[in-house]
Formats: sequence, structure tokens, C-alpha cells
Amino acid sequence: MTHGSCPDWISGHEAIAYQLCGSCGQSQYFRRAFCAACGSTDIADKRASGEGTVYATSLVCRAATEETRVHLPYNIVLVDTAEGFRMMAHGDVKLAIGDRVTVRFERFAGRVVPYFEKEAF
Ligand SMILES: [Zn+2]
Repeated sequence: MTHGSCPDWISGHEAIAYQLCGSCGQSQYFRRAFCAACGSTDIADKRASGEGTVYATSLVCRAATEETRVHLPYNIVLVDTAEGFRMMAHGDVKLAIGDRVTVRFERFAGRVVPYFEKEAF
């Protein structure tokens, strides 16, 4: 069963998509044909708000490739989203664990990627 897929940054759009289980309400970031929590195939693609809380950060100071070298140093963050799933993304180098963040999109090594920064109050 498919509900059609939401455009997201993986397909070059400035959006984050996730799946929501219609049976148990669990959200998941990695697309599967079934819910990882209860096994139901009643799952729908949704667009995330882009809001969340920093769970972990990892400052990258050495580039894996020539293309990413120009971005150094950059921060890779794990974010617990408002929708309940956890995702890895780029983030501001000043982010700390527990910070409330919102997403924008940046070009990184030729791709559009989610980039989290501190929520403005
Ligand atoms: Zn489920």
C-alpha cells in the first residue's frame, strides 16, 4: 500500500519527510513498507515541521572528501524532532545538547541538506 511520497531533501526539495503509522501512531524517519514498531502497513508520508531538540553533536574538523573540505569545520547533529523521530543533519557549530532548533536548508557539497540552527525567541 502506498500513500504517495512526500517531496523531501533527499529528492532535492527543501523539506523533511517522515512516516507516521496509522495503527499505533509511531513516527519513523527511514522509509519502510511497514511500521518498525507494530508491523502495520498503514503508514503515511508526512512533512515534518523542522523543529526539534539537539540530542547529540559532533564537530567535524577533517574532511572525508575534497568537496566537503571547504565547509570545515562543520557540525553533525542528531535532532529529536517535534514529530518524535530522530534524524542526523548538519547544524550550527555553536549548537549544544538540549538546544531547541529549527531547520533551514543549505547547499553542502552540491546537495541541498537540512541545517539546524538555534530557535529564535
Ligand atoms: Zn505502528
